[in-house]
Amino acid sequence: MQFDQLNLDPRILEPVKKSGFIKPTDIQQRAIPVVLSGADLMASAQTGTGKTAAFVLPALQRILRPSRKSGNGPRVLVLTPTRELAMQVNQNIRQFSRCSKVSTGSIIGGMAYGPQLRMLRGRLDLLVATPGRLLDHMEQGKVDFSRLEILVLDEADRMLDMGFIDAVKDIAAATPKDRQTLLFSATLEGRVLQVAKQLLKNPESIALAASNKRHKSIEQHMHHADSKAHKQKLLEHHLESGRLFKSLVFTATKRGAEQVAKVLRSKNLKSAALHGDMSQNKRRQTVENLRKGRIETLVATDVAARGLDIKDISHVINYDLPTVAEDYIHRIGRTGRASATGFAISLVGPADWKKLSQIEKLIGQKVKREIVDGLEPSSSEPRASSRAEQKPRPRRKFSKGAKSASTRKPGSWRKGQSGSKQSKSFRVKKAA
Ligand code: ADP
Ligand code: MG
Repeated sequence: MQFDQLNLDPRILEPVKKSGFIKPTDIQQRAIPVVLSGADLMASAQTGTGKTAAFVLPALQRILRPSRKSGNGPRVLVLTPTRELAMQVNQNIRQFSRCSKVSTGSIIGGMAYGPQLRMLRGRLDLLVATPGRLLDHMEQGKVDFSRLEILVLDEADRMLDMGFIDAVKDIAAATPKDRQTLLFSATLEGRVLQVAKQLLKNPESIALAASNKRHKSIEQHMHHADSKAHKQKLLEHHLESGRLFKSLVFTATKRGAEQVAKVLRSKNLKSAALHGDMSQNKRRQTVENLRKGRIETLVATDVAARGLDIKDISHVINYDLPTVAEDYIHRIGRTGRASATGFAISLVGPADWKKLSQIEKLIGQKVKREIVDGLEPSSSEPRASSRAEQKPRPRRKFSKGAKSASTRKPGSWRKGQSGSKQSKSFRVKKAA
């Protein structure tokens, strides 16, 4: 199938072709007609399969028709879990709306309020937002949803993982009942399905990926490491091998990210950290440095790296394994995007063994063990205990103390919210 066959307006097709897109991806072929039909949709597809354009293109087509309602508020609202992703979606909207007269903007935490308020006062067709900051503006009565036609929940699974469930429901409740709702997710399981049931009306469902579907274009292997120092040596071994183009290294903590990046820089490896304690500007600049090749290794935490769309990441390296097994899939999905083959290397220390067995259970395969000459591990792998595997999925932990401009003061919640709900949303908002 070609893009021409999707009944998209020439003003939309033109920039799509300019972007070098030749054929719509599977999810685009399936989702675009549904969105154009006006039906609600829940869709899952692996990371990197083009879900953004699957909703942006038909949403733009809707905007090309004049609104039947008066007012200035957004006609399309896209909610994303992180600031980085919001900015990327907004960039995509700009890219595809080059030939259409639409106004678009983003509302994200960590940025000044003034320009956002000015933007909300003006005419807006599409708005991309992270739930926390948007709610802040809503509480102050600054957002007009009277024209809203389409609500998109992008990376819905991640929004739920990050504790945005109440915020998303509150935002949805403030939009017109006759809206069209689109939910995109890496998986359509468990809580995501429950939320879909609550927020979507007779949705069409497109499931192109199960969460445990193995990544075909990603080669995965691992090394056992005895200690942090051993992990650092293994990491340097790979980074110095000359086989890596750009790499994304994941650590468990923000401090870990800082430390690893610092050691790498001391070895003249072009690297930088990316985490939620950095200012928005610094984060943007760091991502841009990776994109432009000024740095080659980004050492990041999960939340900070979410939604990064850098096409040419050749290697994802798990310096620490993620606590939540699903995050492994999200992490390695950063490489092997579009059609390039990616590599995922995990450094598994004694504290990571249990996590590894949970990951292998989830992905339904053993990750290949490899040994580097001269860097052999001294300890051998314990047999995974079946009790460890049955442990319930751990709750994601959030850092305390990091001040964010979007943090709501207790008591500033809009009227009618119960106290418990307030503290719940309040607590989770500092995640990014
Ligand atoms: P997802 O949201 O499914 O993780 P994205 O929408 O971020 O994926 O798209 C991943 C990458 O694929 C982006 O760089 C995007 O520009 C590219 N892409 C999307 N659709 C196409 C297409 N039809 N042809 C070529 N590249 C595409
Ligand atoms: Mg996406």
